[in-house]
Amino acid sequence: MTAPQYRLLAADEPPPFAIEHEQGASPFFLTCDHGGRRLPRKLGDLGLPPAEFERHIAWDIGAAAVTSHLADALDAFAISQVYSRLVIDSNRDPSVESSIVTVSELTEIPGNRDLSPAERAARAREILEPYHRRIEAELDRRQAAGRPTVLIAMHSFTPVFKGVARPWQIGVLYHRDARFAHALKALLEAEGDLTVGDNEPYAVGDLTDYTIPVHGERRAIPHVEIEIRQDLIADPAGQRAWAARLTRLLPEAWRKLSQ
Ligand SMILES: [Zn+2]
Repeated sequence: MTAPQYRLLAADEPPPFAIEHEQGASPFFLTCDHGGRRLPRKLGDLGLPPAEFERHIAWDIGAAAVTSHLADALDAFAISQVYSRLVIDSNRDPSVESSIVTVSELTEIPGNRDLSPAERAARAREILEPYHRRIEAELDRRQAAGRPTVLIAMHSFTPVFKGVARPWQIGVLYHRDARFAHALKALLEAEGDLTVGDNEPYAVGDLTDYTIPVHGERRAIPHVEIEIRQDLIADPAGQRAWAARLTRLLPEAWRKLSQ
């Protein structure tokens, strides 16, 4: 007899991803790896006070709302992770140690310390893997149908990190294939009012990222990771304004690249 498998999510808890515009006609395919801040009941509060769940360590502030507006405006398929990145980071290979953080920025996460192999495995199996399987299935389907697809991975970054202020309002991130990122960057710079990060505040890498390397690069489809500064999209007006800007510029970048 084998022991019953450790399960993280209860039957009445939501699945790990939310989808909008499932039948969207746009070539743009939107992901939001850090969109949610929900915790499975079984994890309690991870030993953290409620205020920590307002911070970027728990989620990408504003990113899910911008993604949602963009999906509406472009009629684009969008998928967002529902659970907090403190449960498991959906933009990281689960075999990498930092996929479940014990310290985020300067904050210790007591509920992530001393996890058993079964507890770690359940977080990957129930939170991260279904999310990426759904992305994979949808991209397979589009590929089989011969539909052009541009992967847009939406994120947001904290304006001050470990005490250092960041100058960019937005960054375009990539690793091996800069084509779409640089087409978009040129358009953002032409707006005249933006300091645009080029692989800033982060660069994409195989150990620190998952969505772009796995779903974008390996499939050789055009892609970019977009990082917007969180203070600019913390409220509904900012979220709408940034979604409107990207609704204008993303198709323009795609046209330029396709020419
Ligand atoms: Zn993020």
